[in-house]
Amino acid sequence: MVSVSNTTIRVNSAVFPGVRLEPEVFSDLGKPGKREAYFNTKQYLRVFPESAKSENTRKPKKTKKLLSQRLNSRYQSRTRLSRLYSELGNQKKSARVNKCSSFFNVLTCGEHIQKRVASFRCNNRLCPDCASRRGNRLFFEYEPIINAYLSENPDLSVLHLVLTQAQKQGETVKQSHKRLRASIKRLVDRKFWKDSFAGSLNSYEFTISTRTFADGAIHYHGHLLVFCKLKSSQRDKDWLSKFRAVWLAVSKGENKNLRVVPVTNLQKGLAEILTYVIKPLDIQKLSAVNLFEVEELHKHKMFATTGDFHKFVKAYRKAEKEAQKEAEIQPTIERETLKAGDTCPDCEKPLYELQMPIKQLIIFAQDIERQRKE
Ligand SMILES: [Zn+2]
Ligand SMILES: [Zn+2]
Repeated sequence: MVSVSNTTIRVNSAVFPGVRLEPEVFSDLGKPGKREAYFNTKQYLRVFPESAKSENTRKPKKTKKLLSQRLNSRYQSRTRLSRLYSELGNQKKSARVNKCSSFFNVLTCGEHIQKRVASFRCNNRLCPDCASRRGNRLFFEYEPIINAYLSENPDLSVLHLVLTQAQKQGETVKQSHKRLRASIKRLVDRKFWKDSFAGSLNSYEFTISTRTFADGAIHYHGHLLVFCKLKSSQRDKDWLSKFRAVWLAVSKGENKNLRVVPVTNLQKGLAEILTYVIKPLDIQKLSAVNLFEVEELHKHKMFATTGDFHKFVKAYRKAEKEAQKEAEIQPTIERETLKAGDTCPDCEKPLYELQMPIKQLIIFAQDIERQRKE
């Protein structure tokens, strides 16, 4: 049975421990999609993937970038991406990316920026601003579904699998992506997989470094959030070596590496998986040729669900739709949408609106950050 119980979505950091949230409102939401119907508001929350790494990640924690730094690096990336599209002769995309997040409506008290609304969003997969917004949508879409799935299947445990694909000389991004997806498809059809896992949520990560690209090779990983039927004692050395053997077999002897990481904090685990769906490439390292290859992936999904979990997602969405139709009540966000004239939640001064282009917003944010230090 699938039940939809959340009619009220409490949006505050207490509900999402470990995930840093910041309100950000977007004026251009593209097509009216499910999220709007679900939240019945134009307010979205940004999830910062850099702070939502799995606890098991050994990398040292990055210090939080200042708002001005984040705005500036995104601005630089968008400018470069726009130029690369222009080099490829795609003036339409170049103009869209250039226009994206170039002008803002800002709600501020003079000391804090409480909201910033971009007047235009390009929805390009590689755009750093649009990618983080897409990540938020996926997070808020899948988090309640996973929770419902786990409460119906309390014996399942959640793991993060990293399936690494060995590089191949002369392979394009598209070929590399297809090869990894084919291997994963064969993997989830195996008896070993079905005995161990009830389903998964998959994302793909590829990185292009100038070095690997010069060699004609691409660094490709599959990141899977899997629902494991086995007890932790059953996931012993024998099981793991069997798993490795199956992975090697389904990838036709090409891929040996796989990593299994238990997920202790679901929100962090999910945010981590989604990071790979949304993570734009390092645009500063990208050449026009690289971009051309990445563009070939345009219609390819970088995100998928499998197995029993896939069926559950479908049933959940259907039940959700019916529940909404019956009730005719839209869920509401408890956080009130701040507007000009309200008091700033951080200092209680009145909030007012300013309109400014991105360059001015970066300077404005820097001024505020400087004032705060003094
Ligand atoms: Zn954009
Ligand atoms: Zn303030």
